[in-house]
Amino acid sequence: MPSEIFQLFFDTIPDFCAILDETGKVVHANFQGIGRNLAEPALQTVPFCQTFCSGTACPGQDCLFQEVLLHHRAAIREIAHPLFGHLELQAFPLTKNNSMPVRVALRVRDLTAVKQAEQRLQKLAHHDTLTGLPNRALLMDRLEQAISKARRFKRGLAILFLDLDRFKKINDSLGHEVGDMILCQVAQRLQGVLRETDTVSRLSGDEFVIICEELKKFDDAGHLAEKLLAIFRDPFQAIGHTMHLSSSIGVAQSFIGGEDGNELLRQADIAMYEAKRRGGNQFQIYCRSMKHQVDQAFFLEELLRRGLDRNEFFLEFQPQIDLRTQRLIGLESLVRWGESTTCVPPGMFIQRAEESGLIVPLGEWILKEACEQGVRWHQQGGPNLQIAVNISARQFAQADFADRVIHILQSSGLDPINLELEITESAIMENVDRAIATMHRLKQLGIQFALDDFGIGYSSLKYLRNLPLSKLKIDRSFVRELPFNTGDVKLVTSILALAGSFGLKTVAEGIETEKQLSFLTRLKCQIGQGYLFSRPVSPAAIPGLLQKFAGAA
Ligand code: C2E
Ligand code: CA
Ligand code: CA
Repeated sequence: MPSEIFQLFFDTIPDFCAILDETGKVVHANFQGIGRNLAEPALQTVPFCQTFCSGTACPGQDCLFQEVLLHHRAAIREIAHPLFGHLELQAFPLTKNNSMPVRVALRVRDLTAVKQAEQRLQKLAHHDTLTGLPNRALLMDRLEQAISKARRFKRGLAILFLDLDRFKKINDSLGHEVGDMILCQVAQRLQGVLRETDTVSRLSGDEFVIICEELKKFDDAGHLAEKLLAIFRDPFQAIGHTMHLSSSIGVAQSFIGGEDGNELLRQADIAMYEAKRRGGNQFQIYCRSMKHQVDQAFFLEELLRRGLDRNEFFLEFQPQIDLRTQRLIGLESLVRWGESTTCVPPGMFIQRAEESGLIVPLGEWILKEACEQGVRWHQQGGPNLQIAVNISARQFAQADFADRVIHILQSSGLDPINLELEITESAIMENVDRAIATMHRLKQLGIQFALDDFGIGYSSLKYLRNLPLSKLKIDRSFVRELPFNTGDVKLVTSILALAGSFGLKTVAEGIETEKQLSFLTRLKCQIGQGYLFSRPVSPAAIPGLLQKFAGAA
């Protein structure tokens, strides 16, 4: 019989501890831990550890008690008990003089809370806290499993990379709270259309990745992508805001399981990028040529970035001639990249600069350079010429565009009435109200606006009236076949009439022949620009051209 002091000590152990005799019956216990919940009959069970092992292994070979008795060594088990939760059972032989154990000590630790915490941590480590979807770590894990399964069972597998279109705008304008709510709704809708065997995870921000196992036919992934696009048909709602969203989806498929998870994910990402490039709200299935295009695009972007750092850009200017007086009245600045002999035409890099956002610093440099050049000519005694600068859509869309222009005018010292900004219809249509506000603000300072490439865009009369424009530039593709192409003749004639009725001047681009010139002059087109007068030239050549086009005698 243990002494009282021993009992006191025994009771301080927070786990349930018991001493069993050779039959497994409890001869002593502390009733701590889960022992507090044990009723007397349980203690009578022989062998007692059956109470925890649910009797499945007791008294079989795997029985903890038997193992200690037979092998004279400590044994340990972890079990998930239906009533007591997650338990760790430890049993030790209590031997006397190294002879047969006469007693077995049993210690039962309640690991339920520990396990729960562990599971919570696991979930945290593998799930996105906002949407509760698997995160990147778990996605990659499932992806590797899916690939090896697909390989083993010779099945197809697809990955869909979904990115919301223009989500950043929502986040920036309506706040993160709204953005987060939208992301949760997207997660719910995605789960709603997927099968249980599919995995949907949130990679980061507004990027979701879906693993679709058990792909049977080549079109299966395309059908799924269509279903995913369709979840955006109904508007989303958050804190009083209702908004329409769309997404771009890239699909990568594996039919032989040759690729690893990272490679598949990269392919899906590239295809998603292609879907975005084509305007979004669609899916694209990865193919090899896409990778080549993307590689080239990234290479070009890298070169552009470096070119900006190293001042590899310069400007040429092309004269604009008053067709009535034959005087040079304006110059359009055109950007060039590289050595003048081996220079890259803007058609090859402006679009990429737009897509990557590099057009913003580049465009800023162009505007500054053009304004400074205008001031230099004037200081050299030249007349006050109108300097026309092309502004890209992305540059025009900057919230502080007007401020930037004003700042450049001030720092360069160019008189605002000598600056003309050429913008395209699509740049205006992106946000008509803001465009009108920006233009009015700059117009008040004396800055002029020309609508570039007119005829190839919307050519919408409705908004033309509300815009503070001074000129329309007829795209050179309509001038090229004048006066022979009757369609172009009709179009140019009506553009000229339209411009006249709105009080706008017209500039015909790309005049290369005398025939084009006389046709346009006859129709009272006011201004001409093209190789017939001059190609774009370096600033040093402008004084000579000013003499050449000093006006009809
Ligand atoms: P754009 O604004 O329509 O510029 C006129 C283009 O027509 C220029 O090509 C010019 O060299 C060319 N051109 C002028 N006269 C003739 C002609 O008689 N025949 C022919 N065949 N072509 C003629 P460029 O310099 O290659 O520029 C192409 C486009 O690149 C421009 O079209 C404009 O959209 C863009 N771009 C050029 N410079 C800039 C710039 O500084 N900023 C921005 N954002 N875009 C620019
Ligand atoms: Ca232009
Ligand atoms: Ca043009």
